Amino acid sequence: MCIKREIPLGHFQARSQQLPALPRRALSTGLAPKEEPEASVPAAMLRRQLLAWPAWLFRGPPGPRGACALGADGRPVGPLARRGCCSAPGTPEVPLTRERYPVRRLPFSTVSEQDLAAFERIVPGGVVTDPEALQAPNVDWMRTLRGSSKVLLRPRTSEEVSHILRHCHERNLAVNPQGGNTGMVGGSVPVFDEIILSTARMNQVLSFHSVSGILVCQAGCVLEELSRYVEERDFIMPLDLGAKGSCHIGGNVATNAGGLRFLRYGSLRGTVLGLEVVLADGTILDCLTSLRKDNTGYDLKQLFIGSEGTLGVITAVSILCPPKPRAVNVAFLGCPGFAEVLQTFSTCKGMLGEILSAFEFMDAVCMQLVGRHLHLASPVQESAFYVLIETSGSNAGHDAEKLGSFLEHALGSGLVTDGTMATDQTKVKVPHVLLAGPLSVRQVQPCLGMPGRVIGAA
Ligand SMILES: Cc1cc2nc3c(=O)[nH]c(=O)nc-3n(C[C@H](O)[C@H](O)[C@H](O)COP(=O)(O)OP(=O)(O)OC[C@H]3O[C@@H](n4cnc5c(N)ncnc54)[C@H](O)[C@@H]3O)c2cc1C
Repeated sequence: MCIKREIPLGHFQARSQQLPALPRRALSTGLAPKEEPEASVPAAMLRRQLLAWPAWLFRGPPGPRGACALGADGRPVGPLARRGCCSAPGTPEVPLTRERYPVRRLPFSTVSEQDLAAFERIVPGGVVTDPEALQAPNVDWMRTLRGSSKVLLRPRTSEEVSHILRHCHERNLAVNPQGGNTGMVGGSVPVFDEIILSTARMNQVLSFHSVSGILVCQAGCVLEELSRYVEERDFIMPLDLGAKGSCHIGGNVATNAGGLRFLRYGSLRGTVLGLEVVLADGTILDCLTSLRKDNTGYDLKQLFIGSEGTLGVITAVSILCPPKPRAVNVAFLGCPGFAEVLQTFSTCKGMLGEILSAFEFMDAVCMQLVGRHLHLASPVQESAFYVLIETSGSNAGHDAEKLGSFLEHALGSGLVTDGTMATDQTKVKVPHVLLAGPLSVRQVQPCLGMPGRVIGAA
């Protein structure tokens, strides 16, 4: 059931209609093109326009790259933080987004001393204005975009988020929600002087049902910590991705992240059962149901999955966690060509069926980069393409036998030229490390801008 606090549904619909009719390209963006006519916008949210990434951007400056957000304790977290600093000496300054792109600031107010005093009353001790502490959350982790926000807010509760947004709405102040700042398209960092609203302190598990596997938690919980939490209870999170050590579940939902387990458990549109969201005017939209078969009326939460902070701030998530598989097997194969990769995928879907949980491939250039930058050797002979297949099931012997006979068939028919299989649970993660899956942001950085491809068929 979807219960709306504070204002009746009619107001919600009316508010939706107030949203300016944006061109499709502009719906998920952080920028307003100069030529775009001014339109009335919801006060607290910035409109976003898709960034057209020029190829040169990815070449980036030489030297260390990386950015970080502030963690729950207020200290920087993320790749540069792990190196011990957020502005590594000698690191070229990231150019301001507004200087790099033809964008103009919409007519929002600027933060005043009175605003800061109001924020301090709403989130005592949660108002960051120290320019040094603001450097990291103003820059995306790929160090390609930089905003100039003067204030970052760190609420702990949905009510605090509501009070913040209501104040911003009344004062016409722009807000940029930020989770773990691991997003790939710069949506987590301001373009101009938007207030950064961080979910880092909203990191509490609210409930977990040990029979249904339904987890309800605040939006700022780090994915990896949630994984650990549910795994201790014999469940797994339905998504897993390389940024898991830093990204927040709210950020995952806001970006509709896919990840390694997509093939098996589907998208967040299916596994997220409910959301609590604070709208731009401070209204708390409570759709935090934990009922799996909920067919009552409109499914409002779907609007916010993948909305990248444009429609509201996700403050809590209810998500269905599958039981932890008892047996996981991984095979890593070399394929002579792309046609064989496709054929291997079809064959493996047919032969492994219900136990197939991941299928990913990468090309030879990517493997060379992995060797050069991560110093990892391929476990199979040199090939044009490499494929990782993971099975997850409940019977180790049965699954290994199925995977074995698939491999026999694939090798015998020339689909794959070489392969290795890991059934030992300590070893199944090794081939994964060769692909982008469990790589940290930091590991991926040296490979950015290189021509290799890592693709998840999942
Ligand atoms: C190494 C690596 C591997 C990755 N692998 C995959 C992958 O396999 N599949 C995939 O789909 N993606 C992948 N990603 C991208 C991934 O989807 C995002 O990094 C992650 O989901 C963003 O979460 P975050 O908390 O860091 O959000 P942020 O980066 O902080 O924010 C991302 C966007 O969501 C908005 N946002 C954040 N929190 C909220 C909130 N609570 N309410 C409303 N809006 C919010 C922000 O404003 C921004 O627009 C990968 C990224 C990295 C760095």
